Amino acid sequence: MSKQILILPGDGIGPEIMAEAVKVLELANDKYSLGFELSHDVIGGAAIDKHGVPLADETLARARAADAVLLGAVGGPKWDTIERDIRPERGLLKIRAQLGLFGNLRPAILYPQLADASSLKAEIVAGLDILIVRELTGGIYFGAPRGVRELENGERQAYDTLPYSETEIRRIARVGFDMARVRGKKLCSVDKANVLASSQLWREVVEQVAKDYPDVELSHMYVDNAAMQLVRAPKQFDVIVTDNLFGDILSDEASMLTGSIGMLPSASLDADNKGMYEPCHGSAPDIAGKGIANPLATILSVSMMLRYSFNLQDAADAIEKAVSLVLDQGLRTGDIWSAGCTKVGTQEMGDAVVAALRNL
Ligand code: NAD
Repeated sequence: MSKQILILPGDGIGPEIMAEAVKVLELANDKYSLGFELSHDVIGGAAIDKHGVPLADETLARARAADAVLLGAVGGPKWDTIERDIRPERGLLKIRAQLGLFGNLRPAILYPQLADASSLKAEIVAGLDILIVRELTGGIYFGAPRGVRELENGERQAYDTLPYSETEIRRIARVGFDMARVRGKKLCSVDKANVLASSQLWREVVEQVAKDYPDVELSHMYVDNAAMQLVRAPKQFDVIVTDNLFGDILSDEASMLTGSIGMLPSASLDADNKGMYEPCHGSAPDIAGKGIANPLATILSVSMMLRYSFNLQDAADAIEKAVSLVLDQGLRTGDIWSAGCTKVGTQEMGDAVVAALRNL
């Protein structure tokens, strides 16, 4: 039976990078007879322009029916001044929540060819391969109550809530342990248990889950220390598991260790490994329409999709190998360019990956 992939390019550079990722996906589909059927729809600002909301009900229904979703990025200045509840980013939060995509996997891998692109010394980052597992559908981004209230003295006070249930913590901890088990067998759980009640429960539940994984070495770290350790000695980490807010910040920090956010894919999975795959970066309005965005994070998101939702390890390996070969050829988009390399645009980079994959 064919497998349905829903393509949601989004806004800004989204359509440009997605066009290249789709070329790679279509070639892999033919070359390895994967049986994928692709369909396209809109999300974010593009959906606001078409439907008046950032995620139309029919798009959500198509995403539910699909076996996996490939997304570009959403948002841009055009929609920054509209009502908060229907901004492009709300569409993204809604699709993640409605599809139950609680497990966000964000690898930070430094391709040896790009060691010069990192802002850290090459010896600190060479060979870096970290996986950050971020809880994606709970915590402070979704917690209620939230809002702005008036205090007795007439001043306004804004407030958010950071709730985590044992079930939410247990299921993301399991994802962390499962990933560590097939990698370096080390899991670091990051929290703020010295201050936050939610973090105290987090730590307690992670300890309970650890009993099922005696082969994985568990450690705990406060988030402020983790932020420091990531730039001091990032290779001490194998897998990091953390909550929604801390994971958002730490994964962006980790991404810069690798030189460019334009290289980093992500996967967001539900309990059955149905997933949505997207680059870690946003819609980059500053370079949209110029044909210079790096499409590799989106292309690598395709490989994560083959690996995690469809267990197609050979095809996933082939896409990653094709990306590595293109970097070997010295081809670089502007964000990862360094002296001696050849600067190419979005389309040329996509074409080069397609050519490398075809020849494998
Ligand atoms: P951004 O990730 O879009 O851009 C940050 C910087 O990185 C910019 O200088 C940009 O040019 C560069 N960059 C990003 N992706 C790149 C690529 N593939 N190739 C080359 N350079 C790249 O973050 P931002 O500027 O904070 O946000 C811009 C918009 O994107 C906002 O509307 C924001 O809400 C949205 N956003 C969306 C997502 C998402 O869709 N998942 C994530 C983050 C931000």
